Amino acid sequence: MAVPHDWKSSNRTIQILQAASQGNYGVIAAIAYNLEQVLGLIRAAEEARSPLIIQFFPWAVTFWDGLIVRAAAEAAARATVPISIHLDHAQDEAVIMRAADTLPFDSIMVDMSHYEKADNLARTARLVRYCNERGVATEAEPGRIEGAEDGVVDTAGLEASKTTSEEVDEFIATGVDSLAPAFGNMHGEFGGTEQLDFERLEQIQRQIGNRATIALHGTNGYPADLMKRCIAAGAAKINVNRLVLEDYYTHLQSQVGKVPHTTLIEQGVEKVINQTKEWMDICMSSGKA
Ligand SMILES: [Zn+2]
Repeated sequence: MAVPHDWKSSNRTIQILQAASQGNYGVIAAIAYNLEQVLGLIRAAEEARSPLIIQFFPWAVTFWDGLIVRAAAEAAARATVPISIHLDHAQDEAVIMRAADTLPFDSIMVDMSHYEKADNLARTARLVRYCNERGVATEAEPGRIEGAEDGVVDTAGLEASKTTSEEVDEFIATGVDSLAPAFGNMHGEFGGTEQLDFERLEQIQRQIGNRATIALHGTNGYPADLMKRCIAAGAAKINVNRLVLEDYYTHLQSQVGKVPHTTLIEQGVEKVINQTKEWMDICMSSGKA
């Protein structure tokens, strides 16, 4: 089915991120690994009256056969606040095509950063076109963000490289809607504030202007003030993983086998709700939906 030529104006990820970028707040883009987490994230968004992006690693397409993605999309459609469904770090072209063809993603991160630049750009442009033809928005990673986390392929052996202004223009030319710049941020464990090159992030933001939005990656361990500083420097899509799931895991560890399973699940969902709402407040998206 052909998508209308103005599909971008009604794409949920684009709408959510443009509003955040213009309003100088950040929108939590939270990784979910199971349905309790999906439920907790959506309830947090509704209670906080905040927009939300729920994202999945390609593992949700391959291991789950897309089931959790479909469930999240249905819940997002029923929600009373804007929620979009995103595929994070899709590094395999076959998985990207399968996701765009068969699953209800609003947006996909076409991550070809493990290829050398010319190859990366050519593949990104081709995959952006493929996604756009199906009404799916895209994100890409100019430069290379260091490290790995649960669900992201490790780029060990590949040198991290900070995003240059040349790369900003080259990636925007591929048609991506969102850029995930490398400015000293890293996946996995927090490397410390001194690692972050805010001058570069601000420069990247100035150069992008309103041609795309900025996605912040590698926020595990971030303190609140650092998050606010990244948002002030232009970050609109705030990828989070353990920041909103830590209390959930702690709860499981301490309570499994001690309370009925239904109670364990209900209390776990409550942990996700509370921790997510805290970060929605910090990112200033609460009340924006
Ligand atoms: Zn990432």
